[in-house]
Amino acid sequence: MKCPICNQEMEAGGLIIDGVNPGWVPMEQFEKKGLSRLLYTGFRTIGKTNFVLSQTRVPNAHFCKTCNKIVGIFDITNNID
Ligand SMILES: [Zn+2]
Repeated sequence: MKCPICNQEMEAGGLIIDGVNPGWVPMEQFEKKGLSRLLYTGFRTIGKTNFVLSQTRVPNAHFCKTCNKIVGIFDITNNID
């Protein structure tokens, strides 16, 4: 995959998240703090969680050594609609 910023070839890999249930929320929810965010029902999870290890593996993350950035194309793993 080419870097969307500098167009160099990126290194393929994945994310290992030290925790369970990582996911995406809209900016309005992202900027909230504390418990109010937990009540949000539109949370879009990503990755595959191992609850024993308390880790989540998220495939399809690409690293650009030139820009020092990670770009990901992540599948949503819960359907809420
Ligand atoms: Zn780049």
